Amino acid sequence: MIKKIDDVFDAFERLGFIRVVDNLGLFFADIGRNTGHTSKLLVGYGFSDEELRDGRYQNRIHPDDRRSYLESWRRMNEGIEDELFCEYRVMDNTGVWRWIETHAVVMDRAADGTINTVVGMDRAIDARRQALMALEERYRDTRRKLDVAEKLTGSDTILRTDRSLADSLSEATRQFSDILQFDRIALFVARSGVAAGTAPRWHQVWSSNPGLSARGRHLNESLHAVQNEYRPMIMDESPEAEGYQSLVVVPLCLDGVHIAVMSIESASRGVYRSEHLYAIESFARIIAIVLGNQRFIERKISHLKKDALTGFLTRASLEHDAPRLWDEFQGLFPANAVAMVDIDHFKRINDTYGHQTGDAVIRRVADVILRSLRREDMIIRYGGEEFLVLLPNADTAIAGQVMERLRIECEGQDLCECTETVTVSIGVSVVTQQSPSPLADQIATADERLYEAKRTGRNRVVSALPDTRERATSRISAS
Ligand code: GH3
Ligand code: MG
Ligand code: MG
Repeated sequence: MIKKIDDVFDAFERLGFIRVVDNLGLFFADIGRNTGHTSKLLVGYGFSDEELRDGRYQNRIHPDDRRSYLESWRRMNEGIEDELFCEYRVMDNTGVWRWIETHAVVMDRAADGTINTVVGMDRAIDARRQALMALEERYRDTRRKLDVAEKLTGSDTILRTDRSLADSLSEATRQFSDILQFDRIALFVARSGVAAGTAPRWHQVWSSNPGLSARGRHLNESLHAVQNEYRPMIMDESPEAEGYQSLVVVPLCLDGVHIAVMSIESASRGVYRSEHLYAIESFARIIAIVLGNQRFIERKISHLKKDALTGFLTRASLEHDAPRLWDEFQGLFPANAVAMVDIDHFKRINDTYGHQTGDAVIRRVADVILRSLRREDMIIRYGGEEFLVLLPNADTAIAGQVMERLRIECEGQDLCECTETVTVSIGVSVVTQQSPSPLADQIATADERLYEAKRTGRNRVVSALPDTRERATSRISAS
């Protein structure tokens, strides 16, 4: 019988049916008579027939695979299955773990069901296993990248609005460096608008690495190509001697509008591949949102009428524009804030140093306010030395921080150019999207809190009143 199997196998081989002999070995076991034949493959690995028969071969099976291997045999021995199929590692006689696939069938059972003969086939599957493991590893790697990309999407440190545009972009880029290798990321916008078919002049508005400049025809061509195709492009191996060797150029789109182009650049060759595009596009989306939020609000505010002394919006904007914008903010952002800023003891400055000094102080305080806030914040000169600020997309923590920073800025500057220290008091009111509220009500609330700041010593920010005082207090009723 043993001889016969070998003969069949050899005949097949000679006839060319089985070419990959090293990969395959047949085996046979006559369990009733305790005879058998180890597959050629296992003989090659240093297995002996004796080892197979007395069960010692089991010690050569990898501990992690042994249980499932023995379980497969148990099912066959107990008559649950007539066929066995399993993959496991065995140690060859040089001490190397080799992956084997065994496929065996029961040929014949005794009347009581015990197995008489088994015929099977072993196959070396190292290459397949390695490929699978590499695939798994690649998948894991991709999954990790996607996880980070998703984290980026939800990252409030990037979309936080108490940061400047440059700070948000730097933070996003810093986080993205965990996902993808690059030497520089740059943002470009077209001077003359972005329209398909035209060739706008792209100019750089931001770079993650100001030390490196945008170089070369290659980059320019890429920008144009992306502008016409609206899809990310990987450009490898710059034909130019200097400049970036690997480049991904991505269009930034928001609400179907192409607003900018981002380039991700590396000095090494062949860095970017198509499997990186998901993460790159996730990143591009975030950058587009950051850019879009800011531009959207800036554009809406830019045409409104400005106060001559401070350059801020006039109180007239409260009649129509500010309430409308406030309602828009409430539709767009989870939380929005209103702050009322008032210079402390301003009458004293006027009385002591005259109105001109007073005006200069107002202008300097306005400067500090402008520097402390973001470009998209809306600043209204509410009264003589009172400023109303609308902070779109700012929650209590952010609005509180921003206003505290503003207060400290004022305190630390010589705003009067006299012996007097000029300070400000600030009342803050925040509304979440869950409970929207008209602007007028929020101004009233901020005003109450401003009064509380004055009452409790000035030079402070009040974001909430003790419960019992809220609403019950107002500047009018208390004065
Ligand atoms: P506090 O707010 O800390 O309670 O004290 P205050 O002295 O600042 O009080 P109040 O708000 O009543 O005073 C504001 C003063 O600002 C009254 C007004 O004469 C003066 N003022 C208003 N507009 C201007 C302006 O455009 N220029 C100058 N120089 N003064 C102005
Ligand atoms: Mg005042
Ligand atoms: Mg006042």
